[in-house]
Order: sequence, then C-alpha cells, then structure tokens
Amino acid sequence: MSLASSLARVLSPAPRIAIIGSGYGGSVAALRLAQKGLAVDLIEMGQDWDKTAPAGSVFSPMNNPDKRSMWFETKTDMPYMYLSGLNWINRTVPYYAGVLGIERFAEMKVYHGVGLGGGSLVNGGMAVTPRQSFVQQVMPQINVAEFFSKYIPMANTNLGVAQPASDMVANSTYYLFTRAAAAQNAKAGYTTVTVPNVYDWDYMRLESFNRVPKSALASEVIFGNNYGKKSLTKTYLKAALATGKVTVKPLTEVTRIRPSGSSYILTLKKIDTAGAVLSTTEVTYDKVIMAAGSIGTSKMLVKAKALGDLPGLNASVGKKWGPNGNTMVARKLAGANSSTGTVQSGIPAQGLMAWDDSTSSVFAEIAPFPVGLETNTANYLALTNNPNFGEFTYNATTGKVDLSWTAAKHAPSVAAAKVVMDKLNAANGGYVRTDMLEGGKAYSDFFCYHPLGGCVIGEATDLNGELKGAPGIFVMDGSLIPAKLGVNPFVTITAMAERNMDKLIAAGRFA
Ligand SMILES: Cc1cc2nc3c(=O)[nH]c(=O)nc-3n(C[C@H](O)[C@H](O)[C@H](O)COP(=O)(O)OP(=O)(O)OC[C@H]3O[C@@H](n4cnc5c(N)ncnc54)[C@H](O)[C@@H]3O)c2cc1C
Repeated sequence: MSLASSLARVLSPAPRIAIIGSGYGGSVAALRLAQKGLAVDLIEMGQDWDKTAPAGSVFSPMNNPDKRSMWFETKTDMPYMYLSGLNWINRTVPYYAGVLGIERFAEMKVYHGVGLGGGSLVNGGMAVTPRQSFVQQVMPQINVAEFFSKYIPMANTNLGVAQPASDMVANSTYYLFTRAAAAQNAKAGYTTVTVPNVYDWDYMRLESFNRVPKSALASEVIFGNNYGKKSLTKTYLKAALATGKVTVKPLTEVTRIRPSGSSYILTLKKIDTAGAVLSTTEVTYDKVIMAAGSIGTSKMLVKAKALGDLPGLNASVGKKWGPNGNTMVARKLAGANSSTGTVQSGIPAQGLMAWDDSTSSVFAEIAPFPVGLETNTANYLALTNNPNFGEFTYNATTGKVDLSWTAAKHAPSVAAAKVVMDKLNAANGGYVRTDMLEGGKAYSDFFCYHPLGGCVIGEATDLNGELKGAPGIFVMDGSLIPAKLGVNPFVTITAMAERNMDKLIAAGRFA
C-alpha cells in the first residue's frame, strides 16, 4: 500500500455497516459489500441453523413437526389445517425459536422464514422469472429492459435455478399429483408450464431410488429442508461468509433505529432459543441496510416515523403493500386423472398459466399435499393480479403496527381464481373443497406467503433503494416491490438487490 493510500485509509476509516435480516436482500448485500473488502455485521433475529445440529438433522418435516418448526408458537399453524373437516394436521409444539414465523394482522396472516437465510429456509424453492411486461406495469420507475438483461440473469445464475427434471415430472410416482392436475388443465383448455426451482433435481432422482436420504420426497418443506434445496446458506451466504468479512449475529433482533449525527444507533435485543432476553445493547453504524423482509422492514420504518425516530421519512413509507394475489384452493378431482397418489414430492414442478397482465390473470401453481394418503385432491397456489393495496399504520394505543388488508380487498383474487376453478370443474367434474381451510372457506383470503411492498422503490426510497429523508439507510428486500409480481418473488427480490447494490457501490455510497 502506498503512503498516500494508507494515509487516506486513516483519514477516512471504513464505514461500520449493519445489515438487518439475512434473507435474499440481506444475503446479496452481504456478499457484494464483503467482495469490496468491507466488513459487515449481519444481524438476524432467528437462528444460525447450520450451527444447531449436524447436517441432515437440522430441520423437522412437514408431516412430523417438532419444536424447530414454528417461531415462538405453541401449535403449528399450517395453511391447510383440516382434512375432511378434522384438524389432525396441526401439532402442539414447545415454544421455541423455530424456523417458520407468522405475522398476524386483523385480516391477514403472513408466513415467513426466520433464521440465517430468511425465507430460503422454508420456501418451496420455486424460482420464477416474472413477465417483463408485467414488471413494466408494476414498476415503470425502474429501467425494466436493463433489469431483465442484466440483473434477472445474474440472480438466476447465482441462486442455482434449474428447470424441473423432465423424467421425474413425467414418470415418478412422486409427481403423479402434478400430472393429474396437468391432464385436467389440458381438458379444460388451459396451458401447463414447468416451474423452475432451486432444488437439486439430481439429488431428488437419487432420493426416488433410495440411494440418498430423502428430503423433498420426505415432505421436507415449509419447516426447512435438510438436503437438496439450494437455500441461501448454500449460495450467496456461503460465498459471503467465505470472505471472512461478514460477522453473523444470530438470535438478535433490531428493535429500534434512530439517528446520531450522520450515523444511526440500532437497539439490538439478543435472546436465547426459549425467548429469554439475554441482553439489550445499542450499537452505532454509519450505514444500515434494511433487509428484514416486506413486513419486518415496513413495521420498523412505520414505527420509527410515528415515534419521531426517523422524522424525515416521507408519506410513502408503509404504503402499497400486497400479498402477491396469493389465493389457495383445493379441488376434489373426479373422472380420469383423479388419482394424486399416496406419495408426493414437497417441491412443486408445474403450474396452470392463464396470465395476460389483466386483472383476471391467474398463475395457479400445482402444490403438493404430502400427507401420505390418496386424497384425489389438486391443490393450487393461485397468484393473481389484484388491483388493491394495503397500508401499514402505527397504532399508538397498542404500540403495534396494523395492516389494512381485508377480505374485501382480497376479493378480486378469489374471483379470478374462481373463474379458473369453475372451468376446470366444468370440463373434468370434481368440485372445490371446503373442508380444508379455516372457517370452511373454499378460497383462502386470509393468509399469504409472498408479502410485497411497504417501502416502494422510487417512492419511499430513491431509485437505488436509499430511504428518502434518512440518508445512509438502504432498503434491500421485498418491501421495495409494490404488492405483486405475477410469479413467486424471490428471483425478482434477488435481482432487485443485485441491481441496487451495483448502483450504490458504483455511486460510492459505501465508501
Ligand atoms: C412457506 C413459504 C413458501 C414460499 N415459497 C416460495 C417459492 O417457492 N418461491 C418464491 O419465490 N418465494 C416463496 N416464498 C416467499 C419468499 O421466501 C420471500 O418472498 C422471500 O424470502 C423474501 O425475501 P426478503 O429478502 O424480502 O426477506 P426474507 O427472506 O423474509 O428475510 C428477512 C429476514 O429478516 C429477519 N428479520 C426480520 N425482522 C428482523 C429484525 N427486526 N431484526 C433482525 N432480523 C430480522 C428474518 O428473520 C428473516 O431472516 C415462500 C414463503 C413461505 C413462507
């Protein structure tokens, strides 16, 4: 190092950087900063799961969950709670820092992953590139052509996205459920598409031959996956940690953020796995990256604004939230192609595509229901183009943040999904089941897996994700994307984080 450059280093020490949350946005940010030689603290409220048990026995399966399943609950709370009206699917579990969290609001509960790797630990791995025309519709403020030519391919490569193995989908007994639904799609005149995934299909093939421990084929989804899924701890986070520049602070929740000169003080609450508070400390950082997910980031910022901690935040903070049009529905199948098998892979591989960017668009992914019984049931996670938005507001009476999403706001999603299900039933026979969801509902309008928005790019932040009115705080997660994408969101969230980090680093915002 020359005398001039070592002098420059002494005069301007490297900034202290905090990343709040270690999901897709946080992992991309950690890697890109670490590759620039910058040290970061990666603050994660959940566990560093890989350190909790030997590989292969970290997580519990969906059909036999234990304390590792839920983030501080006493009972599991699965989306499909019933079968034939009987609630035998959910289990009592010890109160523990498990991997699947639920944020409950008045009329919406949001499922999310908790731990190093965020949602990548629990999700179904479906890694879908959105339609460019739809992204242009929902985020005209960004350069969509550049986003698709540069950052979407980067995300797909770095996440390890692959098409489902055609032999498995065509022949495996574990994919009978998807073939049955696809045949019924065809009879009703609908197109079936394959759904890319980050699961290792070669590993899954070996699972089906009983050559390796079963994972996707042993219902390891939603409460974590022990083998074949390329979660962030096997991709972005692995590369970030290998630099030696990233300090992970697990079981540490950021509870407050407020300025101190041009820096920010974070309040860090450290807990043990039973939820007991071990310490509460305040640490000052020069730069803060908010990657706590759409709900986590929105809640923190809405509260900070309301309490006067970050008074400069603008009126867009907390706005344009949506559940990505998520509506789940199950059909009892009839006639030919009605067997969905006694064994099912936990990893989806196909979907019904009826999307033209209009508000009647539906992309209905054929989801497994691996309960070990022949249920003759096709489950769909329908993604829809719902025109409504929810908004987060601070409730001074309860001290909590509320979300204004209602069943009425969800109704356009249910209506769009119903048109498709009615057509499937008319062509094939069968009916929509009402004995699987809470309250005997046919279509879910009260939970989601894909929270999006609350801190929208170019509105609450500038066009690179830096918060308006709080320089040095950068938003890097699903809260940047307003309400919907038409496909599962993690590829787009990853690409958005890649884009923003690229532009912020080039602009010297971490110098
Ligand atoms: C069951 C399920 C299935 C899904 N399936 C798919 C799928 O197949 N394909 C797809 O694309 N998407 C899927 N998703 C959604 C996907 O996982 C999310 O969209 C994605 O993880 C969001 O990324 P993110 O970076 O915004 O935040 P997250 O991945 O949610 O990461 C946020 C992190 O921040 C941490 N955190 C939150 N608050 C704080 C705080 N105050 N202090 C410290 N840490 C904090 C959280 O513990 C978490 O680790 C699924 C989600 C669920 C729940």
